Amino acid sequence: MLKWNGHTHTPYCRHGSPADAADYLEQAIRLGFDRYTFSEHPPLPQGWVDNEPLMRELAMDLQELPSYMDYVEGLKRSYAGKIEVTVGLELDYLPGRTDFADELIAPYADRLEDLLVSVHYLPGKGGMRCLDFTPADFREGILEYYGSMERVVEEYYDHVEQALEWAAYLPVRKRLGHVQLIEKFRDALPPIDDSQMNERLTRIKPKLLASGMGLDVNTAGLRVGTCGKAYVPVWFLQDCLAFGIECVYGSDAHKPEDAGAGWDWFEKAIGQ
Ligand SMILES: [Zn+2]
Ligand SMILES: [Zn+2]
Repeated sequence: MLKWNGHTHTPYCRHGSPADAADYLEQAIRLGFDRYTFSEHPPLPQGWVDNEPLMRELAMDLQELPSYMDYVEGLKRSYAGKIEVTVGLELDYLPGRTDFADELIAPYADRLEDLLVSVHYLPGKGGMRCLDFTPADFREGILEYYGSMERVVEEYYDHVEQALEWAAYLPVRKRLGHVQLIEKFRDALPPIDDSQMNERLTRIKPKLLASGMGLDVNTAGLRVGTCGKAYVPVWFLQDCLAFGIECVYGSDAHKPEDAGAGWDWFEKAIGQ
């Protein structure tokens, strides 16, 4: 099996470490990785979230995207023969503004090798709300807006399904990012009903296949105090594998020490 980390960040992420991306690669090489995908958060539409300090943390500026592409391609060249670097982005599904993301990546269609397609935003109180910021922000902006976790979960997976439909035509290797991000603050919020979760995940499986998407087997939740588990349940991972969906480990590293975090969990979960 190819030892591949398919979801990671760089100093272009404002909520991550300012460490050089080469530090992540050195750590990945030490751990024996064959392939390493940089998938940074691309720019967002101006005023996407009505919270100026948060906006500055969420993504790079529009004018930084060309230099990010050059930066990662430079690493790809300088690390050739040591580790295969692939050039990617973690593209947000932007409800009502998919045109923005389409235009953003169009000039890079032949340079991008991997796209993670993630749902981080839901309509909520006062406009678009980021669902993985803080438990207090989730409660105030999303939970109170929808009234119950049951409704929030429905809304989240409706958006995931819309994201799959949108992403189906993207002309590059692509994976659905952290399919259970909605569980990030599970221990700080009212419980999510397991049967609802299982039903929504089961519905997603054929849609993944139909849209030509792989699955980001994202282990970041293991490192989050209020979550304590990967953002993909083992049964769903096993089902997706049996269904022929490409399942790629992703540590979602925002600092070099996490370049291989949760790989042991992944190996066990896929039964290797
Ligand atoms: Zn991030
Ligand atoms: Zn993400």
